[in-house]
Amino acid sequence: MYPIAKLCGIGLLLGLLATLLLKNMLLGDAVDFHRHKAMLVGIDGVQYEQLKQVIEAGKAPNIALFHLGKSYTGGIKGTVTQQPTLSGPGWATILTGAWANRHRVGSNDSGLRNKTDSLFKLISLSSPTRHTASIVSWNPINDNFVDDINAGFIELGVKCGGDDQCTTDRTVQELRTGNFDFIFVHLDQPDGAGHENGFGPRYQEAITRTDQQLGQILAALTKRKHDNPEEDWLVMLTTDHGRRPPDGYDHGEQSYSEKTTFIALDKPANEELTRPIEDPIDPGLEGLYGFASVADIAPTILVHLGVNTDPQRYAIDGVPLLGHVGVRQLTASLNSANRTVRLRWRVTEGSKQPLRIYRSGQLIAKLTDSSNEYIDSELPPTIGQLNYTVVLNEVPVSRLVSEVPVKR
Ligand SMILES: [Zn+2]
Repeated sequence: MYPIAKLCGIGLLLGLLATLLLKNMLLGDAVDFHRHKAMLVGIDGVQYEQLKQVIEAGKAPNIALFHLGKSYTGGIKGTVTQQPTLSGPGWATILTGAWANRHRVGSNDSGLRNKTDSLFKLISLSSPTRHTASIVSWNPINDNFVDDINAGFIELGVKCGGDDQCTTDRTVQELRTGNFDFIFVHLDQPDGAGHENGFGPRYQEAITRTDQQLGQILAALTKRKHDNPEEDWLVMLTTDHGRRPPDGYDHGEQSYSEKTTFIALDKPANEELTRPIEDPIDPGLEGLYGFASVADIAPTILVHLGVNTDPQRYAIDGVPLLGHVGVRQLTASLNSANRTVRLRWRVTEGSKQPLRIYRSGQLIAKLTDSSNEYIDSELPPTIGQLNYTVVLNEVPVSRLVSEVPVKR
């Protein structure tokens, strides 16, 4: 059996090589996204102003290397996207690009299961040669995504049970010897230090220790890039929630400080991260909704990996932070009495093609790129749930509208 299996393996390999060569010849200089890889390092419970202080004091030299921007989590207060500023809902949004009305992880209950397509699933399905890993200190993340582990969309799932050095060492090992196209890493120390001590030196020291572990991970990646110069890595950093003022012990509610997060990239980001909208559609919370959101991380990684984003099947609430931004701040509100859905958005880039609107996979309108509103008055007899997708410059952005409140 063995020699035949081995021969078959070689045959397959040769076939694959021939296909890749043919593809390269046909595509000419087109980007080969199979060389694109991504790592997302999540650091739990890092409050934005506290992080800035640690960076400015020179005590987070690794995070300081990144392009860092302010962002928000917890959805938009008072709308269908609102979710608690807790780790379960926060990481589920980061790993899906969707708010809890889609992913249904509404609390820290490890029995909850993500109910929308994850980054892991979308990346795995995009090519049989792509592999993903999720290495976490806070175990419930891999419980919430265990369906992806069982389906093989997460090929390597590691739970380190609160031990950040275990998470760091395993990530370093996989960067040295593994062949993953997307690695999610979760480090937990700052959240624990916040719950124990609130804001203060101990909290800031925890951020510094995490920065040192990030340094170990980045050193392994630098070595890997040196040995594999054809690989094009995107590294992103983020957190799942801020902390409650004034003392920083807790989180979970909708205050500015709890909702404020950060997103950092090792590549220059587009205006969604670098140029917040000064007069956002929802002016609440001192303009916080004019900034990027943690839902923008997943679509950014998909853009870097060249994962096809079919607007007819798109269900991601975030906006990519690389390349074209598409429409920003999309909102969708259902008026049950009038049987209409009002969509609003902002456009900050030009387009040569019309803006397109899809309702649950069906194209319903083409508008000029300067439009910023559409009222859908031809709703189906049973509304149930409608997924709207607005496409500008081939970038889709979606919102889910439900007739009845979504059970979480
Ligand atoms: Zn916490």
